[in-house]
Amino acid sequence: MGDRRPARHAALVASLESARLDGVLLSRPANIRYLTGFSGTSALVFVPVRGDILFVTDFRYETQAAAEVGDRARISIDRDSVWARMWRELPSLPSVEVAGFESGDLVHRDFERLLDEKGGKRWHWRPTLDLVERLREQKDPDEVADITAAAAVATRAFGRLLPEIRAGMTELEVAGVLEHALREEGSESFPFPSIIASGERSALPHARTSARPLTPGDFVLIDFGAVVAGYCADVTRTVVVGRADAEQREVYEIVRTANATAASQVRAGMTGKAADALARDYIDGRGYGAAFGHSLGHGVGLEVHEAPRLSRSAEAPLVAGAVVTVEPGIYRAGWGGVRIEDDVFLGSTGPTMLTDFTRELLEVG
Ligand code: ZN
Ligand code: ZN
Repeated sequence: MGDRRPARHAALVASLESARLDGVLLSRPANIRYLTGFSGTSALVFVPVRGDILFVTDFRYETQAAAEVGDRARISIDRDSVWARMWRELPSLPSVEVAGFESGDLVHRDFERLLDEKGGKRWHWRPTLDLVERLREQKDPDEVADITAAAAVATRAFGRLLPEIRAGMTELEVAGVLEHALREEGSESFPFPSIIASGERSALPHARTSARPLTPGDFVLIDFGAVVAGYCADVTRTVVVGRADAEQREVYEIVRTANATAASQVRAGMTGKAADALARDYIDGRGYGAAFGHSLGHGVGLEVHEAPRLSRSAEAPLVAGAVVTVEPGIYRAGWGGVRIEDDVFLGSTGPTMLTDFTRELLEVG
């Protein structure tokens, strides 16, 4: 597969032209990586409508920037301040008067630099929202391959964890075994702190993994991810320690059916709201609507939570080429919860499941 960065650059320039901007200042690391290939965390990028991309970073990243960005941008290194360097370099770009900045990323302290007499005040700054994020929604085949590889790492690690789970282990110990396996299977990092939530704590959709020991009969909700070549996978399975009872089986089966229905019926072209309804209407119909208190899913890619959203308020259509999670759940305070999360590629002819691991209820330990 060829270098996709020139096409991404051209698409961003087209967005700038339709927004009547002469350029945009990028500060969000995932957006900078998408356009330039730079995987470090400290850089500022200015993309003008005409001319080369300007890439500013600090001394620590000099070698890495040369290797990763190469000739995709004019690289400028500063030993002290990437902002001071940006203000020195920006006047060299032709005819930039009105420029955008990333309003969803820039912190207020940095925003003030745009208004500073000695900083960005000589340009007119306009807030932009999700200019690059919108481009990132539609994955190219290389990106889908990287997410698929991350999903394979995640599910292999999970397969290694299952036979190790025992009553008496703490949630933190379970996380340790899982995260060790994720590293050995090739995960570069963790896209978020792994969630291991057992017993009644499994009713907390975003529980903090604790020192609680697993007890026979517990649900254990395990939400975790892997990263390959910068791309994330995001997976949840819920298992039972020992034997599941009838009530657990019933609730699990509702969530499993909701996951399977949504993952097989979600399509590019439908709104995020319609996708959310695929699972929500079924769970509602089984009487658990109030217990499914979050949205169905989100995009995954360079960030573990990115556009699009699959939620009750998402009116935008899902684009072909997106990779989204499908993660219905039922949570009952004081009893426990179940979530099953998979990553799905929305092709032009239909969805493809990227996370290949059984969704049957597993009894472990
Ligand atoms: Zn997750
Ligand atoms: Zn998720």
